[in-house]
Amino acid sequence: MKASVWLGENKFEIQEINIPKLADEQVLVKVEKVGLCGTDVHITQGLYPSSPPKILGHEFSGVIVDVGSKILKDRIGQRVTCNTTSSCGNCINCLNWTISRCLNSEKSTGAFAEFSLMHSSSAIEIPKKMSFEVAAMTEPAACCLSGTEMIEYKDKPKILIIGSGIMGILCQLFVLKKDIDCLVVSEPNSFRRSIAKSLGANYVVDPFDNNYHEKLNEISEGIGFDIFIEAVGKPELLNEGISKLRPRGQALMIGVHPRESKLNSDLHDFHFKEIKLLGAFGRGNYFNKTPEKINEFNLEKLVTKTYKLEEINEAIESTAKGEGMKYMIAPNER
Ligand SMILES: [Zn+2]
Ligand SMILES: [Zn+2]
Repeated sequence: MKASVWLGENKFEIQEINIPKLADEQVLVKVEKVGLCGTDVHITQGLYPSSPPKILGHEFSGVIVDVGSKILKDRIGQRVTCNTTSSCGNCINCLNWTISRCLNSEKSTGAFAEFSLMHSSSAIEIPKKMSFEVAAMTEPAACCLSGTEMIEYKDKPKILIIGSGIMGILCQLFVLKKDIDCLVVSEPNSFRRSIAKSLGANYVVDPFDNNYHEKLNEISEGIGFDIFIEAVGKPELLNEGISKLRPRGQALMIGVHPRESKLNSDLHDFHFKEIKLLGAFGRGNYFNKTPEKINEFNLEKLVTKTYKLEEINEAIESTAKGEGMKYMIAPNER
């Protein structure tokens, strides 16, 4: 099969490699669509630990084309979305944390390739009418669902989301399902602001506007927001959002912050206002439930462009620019 092998920094090479051999409980998936993720960009920039040579790609969908000896042949032909890890359900992390942190997990092979091999339980059948594009967004959506489910939504909260990239948008769609007073999205890119608005944000604001702070103050009636979600991964934005919270407000960290970054917040304020800060990383226990939840969201319009496997560098560059929304690769399209 053809695979795009990452050789370090921004070097990728198309290589012809053998399709990995199926173990008893595994399935082989022909990859239809795989999303580019900020993490892939960070890996090529040396900002996220990973060692080459390696096949990257962890947000994907496809069709089961072969199964191991212990898996029912009926699974062949199923349209699936693929989880990057499996879980045992019995280890201390599965029992006390989440199944996405399983200590005995088996990883799927990278999806920037024509085929990927994984534990059968990692390949989740998708609803009949769901496109492979939308199914490939299950992984980021599961992270946002898991994060937004950590928040308490009582007394019709006012919500502020900073950042309207794919993670901000997915969080937006999930919080709009709750009984809330209003949602404000802060985003400097006008294209992204227009997407946020078209998907139901009550207000969209540009952080570079002169009256930005007054606007937020007005919307939150001088009291502050009940809930704030940081969906960028910049400590100064986390800090800013926390300063916009009312007493007993909740802040959710969806954005991935750089290693060793520090929170420069007034701790007296934190203590005095009884602020709750929630870290949120990964799919939690939500991956399998996510396809059904996102099926109604019309996520097709979030896919800005689909590239061929050979065009991976362009796809990474587009993602790094932070302009469109989601970029994908179709490894089996020529
Ligand atoms: Zn990802
Ligand atoms: Zn486990």
